[in-house]
This record gives sequence, C-alpha cells and structure tokens, in this order.
Amino acid sequence: MQNYQPTPDLLNERVILVTGAGAGIGKAAALSFARHGATVILLGRTTKKLEAVYDEIEAEGNPKPAIIPLNLENASADQYKAIADSIDSEFGRLDGLLNNAGILGQRTPIANYKPDVWQQVLQVNLTAPFLLAQSVLPLMEKSDDASIVFTSSGVGRKGRAFWGAYAVSKFGIEGLMQTLADELEGISSIRVNCINPGATRTAMREKAFPAENMENNPAPADIMSQYLYLLGPDSKVITGQSLDAQ
Ligand code: NAP
Repeated sequence: MQNYQPTPDLLNERVILVTGAGAGIGKAAALSFARHGATVILLGRTTKKLEAVYDEIEAEGNPKPAIIPLNLENASADQYKAIADSIDSEFGRLDGLLNNAGILGQRTPIANYKPDVWQQVLQVNLTAPFLLAQSVLPLMEKSDDASIVFTSSGVGRKGRAFWGAYAVSKFGIEGLMQTLADELEGISSIRVNCINPGATRTAMREKAFPAENMENNPAPADIMSQYLYLLGPDSKVITGQSLDAQ
C-alpha cells in the first residue's frame, strides 16, 4: 500500500483523536486528516501549539476540531476518564485513535541509562497509549469502522545500541498492538495496527541525529499516505500489522 492514493473525502464524518498533535508528525497527521474530512481531536501537552493547529484547520475551512490539553507523563486515571466522557458527550463515538506522541529519552548505553528517564520514556511512549486506548475502547465500539494506530520505530523491531528505553518502549508498543489486535479480531469492528514513520524531518529526529543533514529526510507532510490508509475505510481488513510509512 506504499502507493496508496486517498480520495479527498476519505475521512468524511470520522472523528479521529491524534496525540502529540501540536508538532512534528502528529501536527501533519491532524492537518491531513482534517483536509480529508475528519473532525480531529487535538491532544497534546502544549496548548499554544494545539491552538495554532486548530487555527490552521479552521482557516482552511475544514471540520471544526477540538482540543484536549494533556501531559501524558503524569495524567491520572480520572483525566483519561474525563477525556472519554467529554468525547462521548460531544461526538457519541470515536472512529480513529492515532497514538503518536513520544519522547526520545537518552541516547546512551544501558549501563549509563538514568532510571528516572527510563520511567519517563516508558510512561509517555508505552503506558500512556495503553491508558488512552483502554479509556476510549467503549467509544470506538460505537463506531462501525474504528481504527487504532500505535507509533513504532525501526528500533522497536530490532534493538540497537544506545537507544535504551525508547527502543524498549517501541518493542512494547508492537506487543501491545499485537495483543489488543488479537483480542479484538472477530469480535469487534476495531482494528489495531502500528506504523513506523521512518526517518522524518522533526525535532525528535534532529535531537537523535544532530549531525545529519535534515533536508535529506522527508517532511512529516510527505509521509501521510499510510496514516490516511490506516485511519480510513480502505484498511478495514488490516489488523495486527506493523506498516512502514516510507
Ligand atoms: P516530535 O516532533 O518531537 O513531536 C512529538 C510530539 O509529542 C509533540 O507534539 C510533543 O508535544 C508530544 N509530546 C511529547 N511528550 C508529551 C507528553 N508528555 N504529553 C503529551 N504530548 C507529548 O516527534 P516526531 O518525530 O513527530 O515523532 C512522532 C512519533 O513518531 C513518536 O512516537 C516517535 O517516536 C515516532 N518516530 C519518529 C521518527 C522520526 O524520524 N521523526 C522515526 C520513528 C518513529 P510538545 O510539542 O508540546 O512537546
């Protein structure tokens, strides 16, 4: 599906939640989903960035988005419940969830890895996507064609030196995806998959590879076709898979 061509109205009438929607790949995904007709719920920790994306979507005349400010590092069970309740009362269902927010942590040997950074990375990259997906599952059951996407990485499929908690969190996300997909297959219309963006020109990539010429990497807006595929109706039969965006 690398050459997937989305139709302009692919996501019409769909309500899709994107985490980390204020910057990088999440911002590009939110804008792209809105341009294809979706009502996008923008979740992130920096309200100003979310508001800028909101304004861009509105200025383009696309469906009015919603904003949920949330720090995934320390969000409580009550906050996740409140999010599900507010989506339920505003939209009555959820058709798509893109778990995209993530942090890099340290690029250092396991021998030197700081335990507090380890906890932080596992919390944001793995536990938070679990908590969010769990809290909105009943809302996704109300959709005829719901899609959950988790964000993986090349180092979530093969461990590599100095990637520490980041790599482990991405292995975990692949495991969470496979487990949930297997649980839901045959008894639910919710499909569950991973996407690996590949090297993409964002703040995270720059932090991980400071010496790299960033211009050689595609911009987030250039890698959206697989995201659109997974969030739209054409991937209906796909579940338990880990796709590459590039
Ligand atoms: P990015 O530019 O650093 O953006 C990360 C986003 O996550 C930002 O919107 C950030 O919000 C948000 N975020 C971070 N911590 C958060 C928290 N505690 N609570 C809520 N939101 C939080 O990264 P990116 O490159 O777009 O990465 C997006 C996803 O792709 C990540 O899961 C990453 O692991 C994965 N990935 C990226 C690449 C790549 O080459 N870029 C390659 C493989 C996988 P703020 O802006 O407010 O900080």
